[in-house]
Amino acid sequence: MSIYQHCINPSCGKNYDIAEVLHRCPACGELLDVQYDWNKLQPPKTLKHFETFWTQRSEPHRFSGVWRFHELLPFLPPEKCITIGEGQTVLQRTAGGVGTYTGLRTGKLFLQYEGLNPSGSFKDNGMCAAFSYGHFVGAKRAACASTGNTSASLAIYSACTKLMESVIFIGSGKIAYGKLSQALDYGAKTVQIAGDFDDAMERVQQVSKELGIYLVNSLNPFRLEGQKTIMFRVLEALRWEPPDWIAVPGGNLGNSSAFGKAFIELYQLGLIKKIPRLAVINAAGANTLYRLYEKENLRWNNGDYNKELTQKFYAAMDAEGRKASTIASAIEINRPVNLSKCLRALNFCSGVVREVSEQEILDAKAQVGAGGFGCEPASAASVAGVKKMVAEGIIAEDETVVCVLTGHQLKDPNATVAYHGTDKNFYEDTLGKRGVKSTPFANRPVSVPNDIDAIVQLLR
Ligand SMILES: *Cc1c(COP(=O)(O)O)cnc(C)c1O
Ligand SMILES: [Zn+2]
Repeated sequence: MSIYQHCINPSCGKNYDIAEVLHRCPACGELLDVQYDWNKLQPPKTLKHFETFWTQRSEPHRFSGVWRFHELLPFLPPEKCITIGEGQTVLQRTAGGVGTYTGLRTGKLFLQYEGLNPSGSFKDNGMCAAFSYGHFVGAKRAACASTGNTSASLAIYSACTKLMESVIFIGSGKIAYGKLSQALDYGAKTVQIAGDFDDAMERVQQVSKELGIYLVNSLNPFRLEGQKTIMFRVLEALRWEPPDWIAVPGGNLGNSSAFGKAFIELYQLGLIKKIPRLAVINAAGANTLYRLYEKENLRWNNGDYNKELTQKFYAAMDAEGRKASTIASAIEINRPVNLSKCLRALNFCSGVVREVSEQEILDAKAQVGAGGFGCEPASAASVAGVKKMVAEGIIAEDETVVCVLTGHQLKDPNATVAYHGTDKNFYEDTLGKRGVKSTPFANRPVSVPNDIDAIVQLLR
């Protein structure tokens, strides 16, 4: 068995067949990894190897920004890997603007723009992997709970391929319209639960089990395999030279976990010498990881992390009735399902966790937008977090930093229009009630009478 599912709890460590459909370890309940016995496979000897595929872009599996790295996620034979052209993303070099805003020297900030994926967020990197796997094991339907982008991603794979139907669970009133419109338009069965994301997450797990629907939430280990490739593409754009830092918003912590696994494997395979440091950025209104990691000192501890501490934390949260609340809806999550894997990633990548306020998120978002390639609020948390860490002296101003812009600007137009616009009620409803006091980078539209002289006067 050269490829299998492996329980990440070292005191359990059980292995399971790759074709066994599992959501967690049946023996101990921990998360599962997709694990490779590289000695029996043929991993590349250098990362430069992947450049040989650039001339083969007319072949869909070479065009895919995920599957052209198939040798580093070989859990299915290539012919079983489904692609709709995901991962055609760019590492944007910033000159001045948002880079200067973070306090880094010119040319030191890079933005990995995942909004260019088919459904407009990084989720497609993982969904193509999980969708391929679900189809491979014979599922007819796939389901997820989602703050929006996972459902948009599942729905697009379902609609484009017709290989599995999609069922999505959302909390009521908690989904940005850009994302909801995608799921509806692509024909996903959409189930709106009277509750929040954490409620939807619990229900979808119960329902999937009962009805045998394939679950593609981010506890799905195959999704994380696909998301590793975001880091491969970052390295590719930097000519295989790892940056000093990777900054990423933290919600369910799938991305940060996947990045950690990518670097662990690249390092073990001798494909990188330097390990980038990882900065995971929470919204202050959904800051479980920040509090546990930075305030309570929760650590991976070789897999023997303090579960009592975590349980106590959640119990206190429930007792206080604390619910996640942030304009960055994609990271409005208080019980991150990948917490343990993220701790492992933070451990391997000497990670740091920060929280940022609504104001900091929106100001950073405006700066990103002003540099082109705008993003949705959650994505901008990464930039806001970097600014904070540069100010604290944790990131030096001459270090190379890659922020992952996780989702497209058009996903959540309300936040953007409220920030820049002149409608006071809309502002109050969208941002004011969240404590956002000012909009220093607003690009206000100007009103003018329908009169040529007045318009000319204005623009002269
Ligand atoms: C899902 C998502 C996140 C959160 O990623 P996790 O892997 O859940 O931590 C952040 N930003 C956007 C735009 C997302 O869609
Ligand atoms: Zn186990």
